[in-house]
Amino acid sequence: MKCTRCREPAEVKLRAHNSAFCRACFLFFFQRRVARAIEHERMFDTSSRVLVAVSGGKDSLALWEVLANDGYQTVGFHLALGIGAYSERSRARTEAFAAARGLELHVRALADESLSIPDVMGATRRPACAACGTIKRHYFDAAALEHGCDVIATGHNLDDEAARLLGNVLHWQTDHLARQKPVMQPRHEKFVRKVKPLYLTSEFETATYAFMRGIDYVVEECPNAVGATQLTYKSVLDRLEDVSPGTKAGFVRDFVARASDAFAPKPAEGAGDVAAIGTCGGCGMPSFGTLCSFCSLRAEVDRKLAKRSQTASAAPATEA
Ligand code: AMP
Ligand code: ZN
Repeated sequence: MKCTRCREPAEVKLRAHNSAFCRACFLFFFQRRVARAIEHERMFDTSSRVLVAVSGGKDSLALWEVLANDGYQTVGFHLALGIGAYSERSRARTEAFAAARGLELHVRALADESLSIPDVMGATRRPACAACGTIKRHYFDAAALEHGCDVIATGHNLDDEAARLLGNVLHWQTDHLARQKPVMQPRHEKFVRKVKPLYLTSEFETATYAFMRGIDYVVEECPNAVGATQLTYKSVLDRLEDVSPGTKAGFVRDFVARASDAFAPKPAEGAGDVAAIGTCGGCGMPSFGTLCSFCSLRAEVDRKLAKRSQTASAAPATEA
C-alpha cells in the first residue's frame, strides 16, 4: 500500500476518502481538512480568540493542537465534572497537554460550585447526558464571556454528528435538527458563536492523529455514557460505513448543505428573537424564562438534596 500523496509506504488507509497516507502526509491531510472546514464554514480567523472546550479526550486535544499549530489564538477551557477517577484523569491529561505546549488553560471544577454530576444524576430523572450537556453549555458560555473569547470550539467529530443526526431523524426532532449545524450563531450579545471544526473528521482519524502525534489522552468513555443510545446509533452507522465507505460523511455533509435550512424556525415562530430573551435571575446569563435551564436544573437538585438531608436527619429521631 502506497501513500496517495507521495508514493512512499502508507501507514494508514482511509476508505472513506479512497486514500492511504504515510505519517507525514496523513498529518498534512488532517490539518488541511480541519483548516478547510474552518474556512469554508467561516467559523473564525486568526483575529478571533477561540475558547477550545477540552475534555482530555482525543478529539478536543487533537483539535486544540491543530488550532494552536495553525496560528489561531486559543484559550483552553476544561470543566472538571467530578465523575470519580475518570474526571481526575481527564483533568490531569488536559493540564499536562497544556503545560507541555505552553498553552493557556482555564479549569473550572463543579466541586467548587457545590455541584457534581453524580449528585445531579441522583436528584433528577433527566438522562445523565442531557443534564451534563446543560451544565457544560452553561460553563462554556460563561467561560467565553469571562475570558473575552469570540467563539467556542468543541471537538465533536463526524461520528458524534452522524449519530446525533440519525437520532434526530429517527425521532423527527425538528427543533434539534434546526440546531444541528457546524456553526451556531449567538442569539444574544452575551453568547458567542459555537463551532465544530471536526464535524467532517472521523473518530478514527482523530485517534490516528493523536497516536501519531504522541498525544496522551483519556481513552475510556465517560462511565455514565455506557449503554447510551448514542453508542447504538454509532455502531449501526459503523456497519453502514463498513459496507459503504463515506456514508457518514455524506449523511452529515449533505444534511448541512441541502436539508438543514428546511428545519430553521420561521420568523413568525420567534426565530432568533433577541427581544424575547431576558436575564436569568440565578446567574445573570441570557434566558427565556425567569431561570435559565442550568439554574432550574441546579434549583431542582438543591431542592431534592435538601429534602433528602431533612429526611435523613429526621429518621433517627423517630426511631429513638
Ligand atoms: P462529549 O459530549 O463528551 O462527546 O464531548 C463533546 C465535546 O465537548 C468535546 O470534544 C469537548 O470539546 C467538549 N467537552 C466535553 N466534556 C468537556 C469537559 N469536561 N470540559 C471541557 N470540554 C468538554
Ligand atoms: Zn442561570
